[in-house]
Amino acid sequence: MKRITGTSFYSFAKCPRLAALDLHLDRKERRPPHPWEEFVARRGREFEAVFVRDLGALEPQYPERDFAAGALATLALLQRGVPWIYQAVLRGEHRLGLPDLLRRVPGASALGDFHYEVVDVKSSGRARGDQILQVSFYSRLLAAIQQRVPEHGALVLKDGREERFLLADYAAAAANVDQQLERLLGDVAGARPFLAPACDSCHWNHRCVPELQARQDLSLVQGMSHGARAILESLGVNTVAELATFEPEGARARGNLDAVLIRKLRRAAQSMLLGKPIAEPRPRQAPLEPAAIVHLLTDPWAGRVLAFGVLSPAREDGAFAWARPASRADEWRSFLQLLTALPRAAQLLHFGEALPHWYEEQAFSREADVGTAARFVEIGRRLRSAAAYPGPVFGLPELVRHGLGRDPFRFGHGGAAAMWDGETAAEGLLAAKLRGDLLDLAALKQQLLDVADAAPAAATSSVQTS
Ligand code: SF4
Repeated sequence: MKRITGTSFYSFAKCPRLAALDLHLDRKERRPPHPWEEFVARRGREFEAVFVRDLGALEPQYPERDFAAGALATLALLQRGVPWIYQAVLRGEHRLGLPDLLRRVPGASALGDFHYEVVDVKSSGRARGDQILQVSFYSRLLAAIQQRVPEHGALVLKDGREERFLLADYAAAAANVDQQLERLLGDVAGARPFLAPACDSCHWNHRCVPELQARQDLSLVQGMSHGARAILESLGVNTVAELATFEPEGARARGNLDAVLIRKLRRAAQSMLLGKPIAEPRPRQAPLEPAAIVHLLTDPWAGRVLAFGVLSPAREDGAFAWARPASRADEWRSFLQLLTALPRAAQLLHFGEALPHWYEEQAFSREADVGTAARFVEIGRRLRSAAAYPGPVFGLPELVRHGLGRDPFRFGHGGAAAMWDGETAAEGLLAAKLRGDLLDLAALKQQLLDVADAAPAAATSSVQTS
C-alpha cells in the first residue's frame, strides 16, 4: 500500500509528476543514483549524524520496515517524555512520517504537561519552502498523536543554525499540497511530465524524457511554460511539428497569448525540427573584445571554490591557465594570480552569477581593485537571447548541447567536482572539466555572439538563420 510521506511533499514542490510516480511506482524502477548524487546524500547523512550525536536523542527500536511496531515504540518514548527522539515513526491514514527529530517543549498535551515539536536537519544553507512543508506534514501527524498542535516547527541548516517558524503561517499551503497528493494517490495520470531544470537530477528522467520525446511534447520547446502548453493544446496545437507551422490570425486564434511569445515558440519549434539553433535578430551590442573567459568550479556544500580557470584571448585557440586554491582563505590569492597574467584591458567574460557573487563577498573584506568588477561581463543572457535553440536552455549544459551539438558532460558533470576534490586524480579531472567548459564558452561566443555582432543576418555552419 502506497503512502504519502514527508518526501512526497518535497517531491511535489519539485514536480507534481515526480510525486505521482514516487507514490505509484516501486523504488526499484528508479534510475540508479549517479556517484555524485550518492556523495551529496552521504554528506547529508554524515552531517545529520554529527548533529544528532551530541543531543543524546533516543531512537525507537523496531524490526526493519515494520512501521506499525515503530509507531508503538515511538509512542512509548513520547509518553516517557524523553527530551529528544531521533527518527520517530508517525502514522496516519495512508500517511507515514519519519522526522529527523522530535523535541520536548513545555505545554500540556495528551502526553502530560509537555508536548513535542518537529526539528528536521537539512544540508542546505537556507530554509526552503518544500522543507517547511515537510515539517508541517510531520507536525500534523504528531498533533493527532499528542492531541495538541505544536506552535512551531524548526529546521537545522548546514551551518548548525536553527530556523524556527510558526506552523500556522504554513497550515493552508500544507493542507493544499496534502489534498493534491491525496488526489495523485488515486490517479497517477493527474500530473503530466514537463521538461524542466529539475529533470536533470530526477530519478525518473529515464521514463519521462523518452515519453516526452516520443509524443513531441510542447514542453520540449525552448521558452514553453505550463500555461502556454495548456492554451496551445486547447487550440489543437499538440506537437512540436504543429507548433512549428502555427500561424494564428488574431488574438483569439492564438488563445490571447502574446504575439511575440507565439513567434518565439514557433521559431524554437522550427529550430527543434532543424536540429540546430536559429539566430535571432537583436540590437547591436558592445563588442566582446578584447576579452578573456573566466570560469570556476565550486563545492556548494562547503561554500568554496575548487578551481578557477581562464582562457585568454576568449577563443578556442586561447591559452588556458588554472589555479586550485588550497583552502577558502587561499581563493582570493589564487584568483588574483590568474588575473595578473591577463591584459589589463581584457573584459572578463563569465557565465551566470557565481563569479560576481564570489567576488563581491571576497572584496567586501579586502582592499579590492575597483576596476576588476567593472570588467566582468555576463554572457549567459546574451547567449540565451542570441538564438532559438532546439530544446529548453536552463544553464550552460543545455547551451552546449543545443548550441554546439556537443556533450556538455564529456569531461564530467559539474556536480561531481566536489567529489573529485578528495581524489588523487583530482588535479587532472578538475583541470579537464574547467578547460572543457572554457572551450565550450569560447565556441558559443564565437559561433553565436561574434557572428551575430559582425553580421546579424549571416548564416554560419552551425547557426541557421531565417
Ligand atoms: S523527469 Fe522531470 S517531469 Fe519527470 S518526474 Fe522528474 S522532474 Fe518531473
